[in-house]
Amino acid sequence: MPDDESQLGFETLAIHAGQPPDQATGAVVTPIAQTSTFAQSSVGEHQGYDYGRTANPTRTALETCLAALEVAMYGRAFSSGMSAVDAVLRLLDPGAHLLMGNDVYGGTYRLLSQVHARAGLRFDPVSLEDLAEVAAAWQSSTRMVWVESPSNPTLRIADITALAELAHARDALLVVDNTFATPYLQQPLLLGADIVVHSTTKYLGGHSDVIGGFVATSDEELSRRIAFLQNTVGAVPSPFDCFLVLRGIKTLAVRMERHCANAARVAEVLCEHPNVGRVYYPGLPEHGGHDVARAQMRGFGGMVSFTVRGGEARALTVASSTSIFTLAESLGAVESLIEHPHRMTHASLSDSMLAVDPSLLRLSVGLEDIDDLIADLRGALDIAFSG
Ligand SMILES: *Cc1c(COP(=O)(O)O)cnc(C)c1O
Repeated sequence: MPDDESQLGFETLAIHAGQPPDQATGAVVTPIAQTSTFAQSSVGEHQGYDYGRTANPTRTALETCLAALEVAMYGRAFSSGMSAVDAVLRLLDPGAHLLMGNDVYGGTYRLLSQVHARAGLRFDPVSLEDLAEVAAAWQSSTRMVWVESPSNPTLRIADITALAELAHARDALLVVDNTFATPYLQQPLLLGADIVVHSTTKYLGGHSDVIGGFVATSDEELSRRIAFLQNTVGAVPSPFDCFLVLRGIKTLAVRMERHCANAARVAEVLCEHPNVGRVYYPGLPEHGGHDVARAQMRGFGGMVSFTVRGGEARALTVASSTSIFTLAESLGAVESLIEHPHRMTHASLSDSMLAVDPSLLRLSVGLEDIDDLIADLRGALDIAFSG
């Protein structure tokens, strides 16, 4: 690995950044440093590690690698996406105000409305596609704009560059939850964002076998505060979990290419199906955010949502009638998943203004044979409309 990593391509960094062969043994794969503490040669003298909550070599490898992929100076791996989101929200003082998209991950909304709101944080959901609406919702105490693009579950696209300019002109931070896109498809810091957040549980891990989170930034002061919060609260991932995410990242680029190709085909087939209402996929030319997505993303991602004609009952039947698409929460792994956001991932929004259409289904299109996936969805739609 050359010293100047900045010239290297994404795939090379994904496989090598932060992961030189082990100095002690030559092991090609970064060892799992399963230890809680580290020997000191004299008081305060050590090799950069003193206690496993503060830092761990396997975690450092993951942090270095993922920060490189996000083109960030600093990165911190967390025990879950939610603990990463929580650390970023804790940057705000009581009484501060936050603007967020009105189509956000249910767990982020729950954390804001039931935990941070009690600690004095105020927030308003807005339509992030509409810059005039964002500006109109601005308050003198607004300190942060929280962006998910593509959003969850209706895959709306926000113009990250324009929102960063708007936020910076008003002395606020722009945060992007980049879980759906991954750094392979979208690098928010290059578009002007201050902080990127991930649930590494999804595409970065990629195999449905680990829970993890990440925060990346190039602002030294923000990085220092995030590290302080993480070490103080103890929201750290295990060395084994860091190893699993690192292993997943090595194949991220090839997986994302196939996720995108399979999802595009699924979206196309659903658009033509008589029992499907609306199809939400940023790769469709008629999608409202298609042009912005084309400009700020390398591909349109592996998530597709659609409404089933005839309402919730038929949607529920489709969700439980597939055989290759597994009915489950989560997303971003090799196997295809189907879910009903209103009752599953977004149930915590069901009494709020952000409630999701009960006829909506969300697909995480995996890496199985595309013809098998299409036949599976057609079959489930047939079952739902046969009675
Ligand atoms: C899953 C997810 C989270 C939460 O991450 P966990 O790893 O489940 O804690 C946050 N944001 C988005 C967009 C997600 O999909």
